[in-house]
Order: sequence, then structure tokens, then C-alpha cells
Amino acid sequence: VWSNCLAIIKENVNDQSFKTWFMPIKPLQLVENVLTIQVPSQFFYEYLEEHYVYLLRAAIDHVLGKSGRLEYSVVVDNGFEGNQPYTVNLPNKSNRNGDGNGLNLKGSDYSSPFELKSVEDSVRDSHLNDQYTFENYIEGDCNRLARSAGFAVAQKPGITSFNPLMVYGGVGLGKTHLVQAIGNEIRNNIELGNKFILYVSSEKFTNQFIEALKSNRLQQFQNFYLQVDVLILDDVQFLAGKEKTQEMFFHIFNHLHQNGKQIIMTSDCPPKDLKGLQERLLSRFKWGLTADLQTPDFETRIAIIERKMQADGIHVPKNVIEYLAYTIDTNIRELEGVLISLIAQASLVRKDIDLELAKSTLKHIVEDVDTEMSIDYIQEVVSEYYNLSPKDLKAKSRKKEYVIARQIAMYFSKELTQHSLKSIGYHFGGRDHSTVIHAVQSVNDMLSSGSKHKGEIQEIEKKLKVKVS
Ligand code: ADP
Ligand code: MG
Repeated sequence: VWSNCLAIIKENVNDQSFKTWFMPIKPLQLVENVLTIQVPSQFFYEYLEEHYVYLLRAAIDHVLGKSGRLEYSVVVDNGFEGNQPYTVNLPNKSNRNGDGNGLNLKGSDYSSPFELKSVEDSVRDSHLNDQYTFENYIEGDCNRLARSAGFAVAQKPGITSFNPLMVYGGVGLGKTHLVQAIGNEIRNNIELGNKFILYVSSEKFTNQFIEALKSNRLQQFQNFYLQVDVLILDDVQFLAGKEKTQEMFFHIFNHLHQNGKQIIMTSDCPPKDLKGLQERLLSRFKWGLTADLQTPDFETRIAIIERKMQADGIHVPKNVIEYLAYTIDTNIRELEGVLISLIAQASLVRKDIDLELAKSTLKHIVEDVDTEMSIDYIQEVVSEYYNLSPKDLKAKSRKKEYVIARQIAMYFSKELTQHSLKSIGYHFGGRDHSTVIHAVQSVNDMLSSGSKHKGEIQEIEKKLKVKVS
């Protein structure tokens, strides 16, 4: 039974979370439809409850039926098994999970948003996950335009010129979160009245379409979508090459747009690169606003980590936060995965999160954590410290603040890496090796003369050494 549940869970969470939170669970017994599972600590139990209760409920429903129940047994701190299982009342089916990043129950109609019946019953499930809000969508240079355009659309759906709104960006950069936040914002604004907001992934849209085609219910399918006031279609790149589905979407798009309904889409690349989408669709995508999400910059990563840890009520020292932000610079989903593992690890070994624990955890989960000191890294830390960009260190500018930062970065490149003077010069916009010698001398002077930059240099050194220590 538990392995059936696990199979469903695995479909619905990422590998990282699955390994961290579900693999350590042991099934203990199944008595009269009550499944007891053992979790390694109280914290585990709380975390599962907080984050996965709906998923667990759905999995139990699916495998044991409506009368199925779940109980936890928590291994208590002294190492003995708690023999009083917590009885946990799982809430009933709820649409809180939405279905986008929500549930995927193979062969089940549990979360199908396209219940043709509902056209008549007017059951309007938006498939929004209320965890995705603007409030917890951290703003940064990487997402400012998309976020504010999204917010504007949410205040006046269908009325701004941002129709359609197209958000694009790589995996894990916050597309789904943002468009769901728009949906939630509209839903929570009573002044907008009772709008039918629908979130649907392009994959689901396609599957429903094929289903409707097979069962001769295209008319119902279309009618269903024509009732929508705010259509959120996630990951439109999935429609590539699916001619019939695109045609259907084209009709729906036109109808909704003409009637002042809001259309919001996401894609993993800019519209011009959407290969396999019909030209007439692409040209419509350009009617409104296209906004991109970039990989988060250092400051945004810091803010996201702080926010997530705060939300979980966990204290993490500043140096750990900076270490994580420097080390994980790919995307926000990966960052979250690492935080989850770190929290789990701290809970398993019953230690506070410190730099040592962070480093050892990362070693196991992030492929080739880079512990080598590199010129790139030094440039990143130094420019960050002075609120510049690494580009400024390579540029020609002779502005005083640039010069100082550049010299300090050169100095550390010489001190902490094996690069030759020539190679260092090359990494700083193709400068001469004599410039590097001069920089090293200047910084040595600053250090010995007690100049006002001395303190800064020492602080930067501390930040740099976090990485290799
Ligand atoms: P995408 O759809 O682009 O692949 P998601 O929207 O699923 O990415 O985001 C991945 C994870 O990162 C989600 O858990 C989301 O809540 C989180 N996330 C993304 N952007 C932000 C942000 N700006 N602030 C806070 N969390 C974010
Ligand atoms: Mg997504």
C-alpha cells in the first residue's frame, strides 16, 4: 500500500524532496484502512504536515479509498520508538493544490480541471494553489518588469494593454509562481466580482483536447473554455508541433481576447524562439506584453533564502546564507531544494545549521560544488561588496570607486589563486601585467598605511574565505 502511495507522491514532488522527505519514511502497519507510517523525528512530522498534507491525503484517498486514514509514529529523541502514534486528521479533498504544480494521479480523474459535467454544474475550480502569492514572490532586478506587469494585470484583468501577458524564462525561475499569484490576486479581489479564473498547464490542455476529440465532445470542450474570464496557460512551448491543439487554442484565444477576457501565458523561451508554434499564434502573443524572468542575482538569492527560512521559523546565520547564495546560482527551485535538504539534515543530526553543516550537505547534493577559488568568484564577491557588477571590474572606467574595487579584486586574485600576472590582467578586461603589479602594490600600501579601505579589504577577505575554509 505504501509503495503505491509513494509512486503517486513521486509523480508530484521533485526528486530532491522525494529523497529527503519520503524515502526515510517506514510503513509500519495497515489495520482496517489505517496506515501507520514512521517518521524519523517530530520535525519531520511537522514538516510533512505543513508542506505535504494535501498530497498525502490525495495519495491515501487514491490507494485506500475515502475511508483511508493515515497515522504517524514519531521516533522520539532518546532513540526509542514513540509507541503513541500521532493521529492526524487529514483534511478532505481540497483544490488548494491546484493542479499545475499540484497533483498528478495517473489514471485518476482526481484533479482533472476539465470535468465536462462542470459546464452545467458551474463548479468552477480555478486550480490555483494559494501558496503562490505576490506577497511571497520576492522582487529583484531579475523579475521586476514581469512582476509589476503581472501585478498590473491582476488589478485590471482584460483591461490593461498587457493582453495577452506572456512571461518567459528558464526552468525554476518562477513562471508558475508568478502567474498563479496573478490568479490568486484576482480571485481575492472582491471588487472584481466573481470571475472564472482558470489555471491549466499546456500539457493538461492538450490531454483534455485529445480526450474530447476521441469522445466526440469538442463542442463541450470549447464551450468550457469560452466561459473563462482569466485564462492562465502554463508552459505553452508544450504545444509545439501539436497542430490540432494549437488550432483549438487559436479559436479560444481569439474569442476570449475579443471579449475582453485576460489571457496569461508562460513559456520557457522568448516567443520568437518558440519553434513549432504556428505563426498566427505567435503574432498574437505579441499583441500584449512579453516579459522575461532572469536568473536571480545575488541579492535576490539572499532575500529568497532569508524569506524561506523565516517562513519555516528557522534561524540561519548570516554567513551560511551568504555561502548558499554564492554557491547556488542556477535557479530558485534548486535553491529551495537545497534549503529543504539542509533543514532535514539539521533535523536528522539534531544540530543547528552552521557553515560546516551547510558545506557537508551541499557536497552531497549539488554536483561539483566549486570549492576552488577563482577569479570569477573573486570578481563576484568584490563587485557585490561595492555594489558594482563584475563587468565594471573589467571595464575601462577610471572612476575612483571602480579603480579601488578593481585593484582589490586583482590583489586577491594574486593572493588566492595560482593565476599568473598575465592571466589575471587578461581576466580584468585584457589589462597589462604591470597594471596587476601596480594594483597589488597599491593594496599592500592601503593595508600597511591603515587607509580607510583597510577595513573593507579585511571584510572582503573574510567573505572570500568562507568558500574555501
Ligand atoms: P518555473 O515555473 O519557472 O519552472 P516555479 O514558479 O515553479 O518556476 O518556481 C520554482 C520555485 O521557486 C517555486 O517553489 C517558487 O515558489 C519559487 N520562486 C520562484 N521565484 C520566486 C521569487 N521571486 N520569490 C520567492 N520564491 C520564488
Ligand atoms: Mg512552471
